[in-house]
Amino acid sequence: MRPLIGTSWKMHFTATQAGAYLAALRPLVAEIADRDLFVLPPFAAIFVARDRLAGSNVAWGAQDVHPEDWGAHTGDVSAPMLADLDCRYVEVGHSERRRDHGETPDLIAAKVGAVLRWGMTPILCVGEAHHRGPVAALADVLPDLERCLAGVSADALHRIVIAYEPVWAIGEHAPAAAPTEIRAVPVGIHAWLRGHAPGGETVRVIYGGSVDETVAPLVLGQPGVDGLFVGRRALDPAAFATIARVPILPAAAPLETTIS
Ligand code: PEP
Repeated sequence: MRPLIGTSWKMHFTATQAGAYLAALRPLVAEIADRDLFVLPPFAAIFVARDRLAGSNVAWGAQDVHPEDWGAHTGDVSAPMLADLDCRYVEVGHSERRRDHGETPDLIAAKVGAVLRWGMTPILCVGEAHHRGPVAALADVLPDLERCLAGVSADALHRIVIAYEPVWAIGEHAPAAAPTEIRAVPVGIHAWLRGHAPGGETVRVIYGGSVDETVAPLVLGQPGVDGLFVGRRALDPAAFATIARVPILPAAAPLETTIS
């Protein structure tokens, strides 16, 4: 599976700053051919990504979407608007949107449907709130996955990316998860996907949560981890470029040692 490595800038960078960032990033990653890359700017800078990244090896997309295509929804942005900006990816269900905007699995499922309807790839974020080990994490994550993907056909499931992001490991004051601790949940998500669609194990499951240049090669080497979703560290284009090209270090310990 080709690794998928990307970043959401969250609410960082004006359109002008986005132009400078992408001008710096593009040559730094131009030679990378063995993995897929993406950036998710704020809505107000997506047009800059389209202008600066067209013809490059970096795709772009959005951090959210309204479930309906048009209408009286002041301040919202719809899937056809994002498709018109040539977005390839649309993130849905990030924990900050669930926290700040009260997004429910039903709403997230409707957003996934809108993204698929308009031919783009949803990046569905799931992750447990508390640090209580992989068994408890899967007990939170799998039912959420079931609800957020309700209505997605087995065929369409292949067009989705799952971002496993333990909420407790996201952000400035969060402890980074140990790479060997991360592996059991993506493996469990792959098993769930396999059970829901023939060939479902080929759906990419990427990991996010305090990823930096040091942990990136180790995280990418864990079984079940097909890519990285980077927040803060990728606000520096040079750091993102370094993460984008990290070697994949094989996992050091057998999977069974992490599930107890
Ligand atoms: C995120 O919020 O999706 C994320 C991965 O953030 P950070 O890397 O800053 O923890």
